[in-house]
Order: sequence, then C-alpha cells, then structure tokens
Amino acid sequence: MKVIDHINQANKTLVSFEILPPLKGKGISAIYNHLDPLMEFKPAFINVTYHRSETMFKKQADGSFTKIEVRKRPGTVGICAAIMQHYNVDPVPHLICGGFSKEETENALIDLAFLGIDNVLVLRGDAARNEASFEAEPGGHRYAIDLLRQVVDINSGIYLEEEVKDHGNARFCIGVAGYPEKHFESPNRNTDISYLKAKVDAGAEYVVTQMFFDNRKYFEYVDMCREAGITVPILPGLKPITSKKQMNILPRIFHVDLPTDLSTAIAKCKSDEEVEIVGTEWLLQQSRELKAAGVPVLHYYTLGKPKVIWNVVKEIV
Ligand code: FAD
Repeated sequence: MKVIDHINQANKTLVSFEILPPLKGKGISAIYNHLDPLMEFKPAFINVTYHRSETMFKKQADGSFTKIEVRKRPGTVGICAAIMQHYNVDPVPHLICGGFSKEETENALIDLAFLGIDNVLVLRGDAARNEASFEAEPGGHRYAIDLLRQVVDINSGIYLEEEVKDHGNARFCIGVAGYPEKHFESPNRNTDISYLKAKVDAGAEYVVTQMFFDNRKYFEYVDMCREAGITVPILPGLKPITSKKQMNILPRIFHVDLPTDLSTAIAKCKSDEEVEIVGTEWLLQQSRELKAAGVPVLHYYTLGKPKVIWNVVKEIV
C-alpha cells in the first residue's frame, strides 16, 4: 500500500520507522532483532536507507595500496523484501542519485516493482568522501528532482511497449526530503523551499523532514511551505540524542541546531546513560506536542536505538 494512502485513510497520527542496512557481512537477523520490539506499535511503513559505495585503500602484501570501492551497508532492496515478507509492513526503500547511473536506477525500480514494493523516497545523496561537493555519476542524476522525474516517467509507463502497458507496470508513491532548518547548501530557507515545491510539482506526494530538535522550526517550516503553495503532507523526522558527542556531531553532519535548554541539560550529564534519559524525555515531549498538533505521521530515525524509540512510542500511541 502507498504511503499516501496510509496517510489519507488514517484517523489518527501514524508511526513509522527508518532503519539502516546492517554493515556488510551481518545477516538479516540484525534487522529483525532491531525491529521486533518496535512492531507492537504497528508502524504504517518502514524506511530503509540507501548508501553509496565509498573509495577505500586496501594494503597489498607488497606494502602498496589498491583503490577499491566498498559499499559498507548494501542490501536495501533485499531488506525491503524481507520486511514485507516477515512483518507484512510496507517498506520504503530510499533511492539516491549519488553513485548510480540512470540505467542502474531503472533496474532497481524494476526489481522493486517485481517485489510488489509501492513506495520510494527519492534523494540526491551526499557528496562522496573524496568530493568537495556532490558530483553526479556519469550518466546519472544531479538533483533529487531529476531522479524523481525518472520515477515519474516509469510510473507513466512511457518506456513500455504498447502491448504491456496495462500489465502491472509500476506506480510508485514518491516521497522527498525537506529541511526545516534549510539544506546546508541552500543560501536561505525560501530558496530551499522553492526547490522543494519544484519536487512536489514534479510528482512528490509527501515530504519527510530532516531531524530537528525544536518543534517551532518544524511548525514554521510547514507554514512557509504552505505559503509557497506546497500542500502535500510534511512528516516530521525525529531522532533521540543518546550521547554527549552527538552535541557536536549532529550540528556538523546534519546541519541542525540544538536548542539551548537541550544542550544545557546534556552538558550537565555525567555519562551517556544520563544523556539518554534526557534525550528520551526531550523526544517524548517533541512527539507529544507534534501529535497534539495533528501531524499525519511521527517518523522516527531508529539508528541503532530501538529501545529509546520504544520507550517514547509506548507513551504516545
Ligand atoms: P535535492 O533536493 O537535490 O537538494 C540538494 C540541494 O540542491 C539543496 O540545497 C537544494 O536546495 C538544491 N537544489 C535542489 N534542486 C535544485 C536545482 N534544480 N537547482 C539548483 N539547486 C537545487 N542520504 C543518503 O545517501 N541515503 C539515504 O538513504 C538518505 N536518506 C535521507 C532521508 C531523509 C528523510 C533526509 C532528510 C535525508 C536523507 N539523506 C540520505 C541525505 C540526503 O541525501 C542529503 O541531505 C542530500 O545532501 C540532499 O538530498 P535531497 O534529496 O534533499 O537533494
């Protein structure tokens, strides 16, 4: 079932989760162990991130180094199939521009369609480690909107022969990313929102936001999007803080601010166990307020912390 249908048919705030594929070499049980406790909350859908390969240098026996491309977290499509089979929950694979040619993307979409997967979250992806800024793959896409247009074309069946057009060609529900605190490359929020509007006008049916720790940023963002003519659901993306080092990492990597009250409370903690208590309580308050405001879905980035998410969600469902 499509994410947009879950949202349109719901009479209450839904819950959804996002997971990362496990590190290469780990089995599917790593995913089940992570998700099993969360399934009692009946998530409407589960997102699975996509990770491009990274350039690494492998030392050879003679002491020289060979450049190799390593995908550390492969398996997005397979994990989506396993989630559907094992839990009977709709998976949402992420699709990224970075590292993929258009042909590889088309093959991935064909695989997803054969598996009966109805949804994709379409993203650009970040720059590779060796790039100063994002570079499109030769024969690939520059922006998320370009990838989105490819999915829309596939949805419309334009690549199919006349005689097969009516025979189960894919119809993916497309989500895209939005940034309450603006995307870091954008000069300002309005410009960023104008590009979001272009993605929606091109066929995105809903938006999932980057994490934020101050609900006012989300509410302002939704207002700005509505003023810009974006009418689709905007799902808040939520993440708990569970360690002191995240106080530096999250602003640096994800370009999000931590409110003073939160950073002061974390600074006072003597251990990461204490930070986790503070982070859990903060996320719970955020979730309660967003739910009271009637958001369509609370979308949790579980990122290796299912217990924290469980402690929060049990209080709000
Ligand atoms: P875009 O929409 O292409 O925007 C990128 C930048 O370009 C923005 O500054 C935008 O304002 C600007 N822009 C957009 N269109 C144009 C245009 N036509 N001309 C000029 N400028 C333009 N990354 C992964 O690698 N894998 C994942 O699974 C993943 N999942 C994510 C899930 C969510 C919910 C979010 C919020 C992010 C996720 N990311 C993931 C990170 C994401 O790939 C990065 O934030 C990336 O830098 C931007 O992706 P985007 O889809 O927003 O890009």
